[in-house]
Amino acid sequence: MSDNRREFLKKSALLGLGSIAGSLLGETKINALNTVETNLLGTEPAFTLPPLPYAYDALEPFIDKQTMEIHHDKHHKAYIDKLNGADNNILKLTVSDEQKCKMVSADTPALVRNNLGGHFNHSLFWQLLKPNPTQAPNLPASKLAEAVNQQYKSFDDFKREFSDKALKIFGSGWCWLIIDETKKLRITTTANQDNPLMQVAADKGQIVLALDVWEHAYYLKYQNKRADYINNWWNIVNWQKAEELFSAK
Ligand code: MN
Repeated sequence: MSDNRREFLKKSALLGLGSIAGSLLGETKINALNTVETNLLGTEPAFTLPPLPYAYDALEPFIDKQTMEIHHDKHHKAYIDKLNGADNNILKLTVSDEQKCKMVSADTPALVRNNLGGHFNHSLFWQLLKPNPTQAPNLPASKLAEAVNQQYKSFDDFKREFSDKALKIFGSGWCWLIIDETKKLRITTTANQDNPLMQVAADKGQIVLALDVWEHAYYLKYQNKRADYINNWWNIVNWQKAEELFSAK
C-alpha cells in the first residue's frame, strides 16, 4: 500500500470512528485510536519469510544451491504470501505459529491448514539442516541418542525405519520423529503440509526431526530418486537442533 493511500485510509477510519473514540478520555482514547488504526490498517504483514540460516550452497553436495534458492525463496515465500492473504481467526491470534498449528482441525479451511503448515514446517526444516558438512559421521548425541538406541535397538535400525517410512509416503508429505502422547519416540508421516502438532494428524506429538519429501525438495538434483535424497539427507541432519527440540519441555 502506498504511503498516501495508507494515510488516507487512516484518516477516514479515524474520522468514521470519532464518535466512538470521542466518548473516551485521555490516554485511553489514544490507545483506543491506536488499536483501531492497527486493526483496520495493520502495521506490517503478519507473517514474514525467515531468512535461511546459512548460505544457499552450504548444504552442498547433498542439497544443491539452486534447489535451496527455489525451495526457500519461492516455495516457502508462497506459503507466507498466501497466509497474509487469508482471513481466518487462527491467523490473527497473538500466539506462536506452533500454537496456531495445534488449533488446526478438520474444520479449518484448506488455505489456512496448508499454508500455515507449509510455513511452520519449512521454518523448522531449515533449522534442522546442518550447513558445511564434513567427512565425520553425522550422529545424534547425548539424550536423544540414548532414547533412540533404547527404543530402536541401534541408530542404524532407527535410520532404516525412518528412511523406509519417508520413502513410502505416497505423493507429497513429511516424515517426522516425534515424542508422542505417551512420551515415546515415534516415526510418523503426514500428507501435504500437515504436521504432528495439528489435530488432524493420526499421530500427534512434539516434533524432534522433520524431513520434507515433496519433489520440490529434491527433484532438480535427484529427479525421481527419492531414496538417494533421503540417504544423503542423513549427512546434513542438525542433531544439535534435534537434541534441543527433544529436550524442550
Ligand atoms: Mn518443501
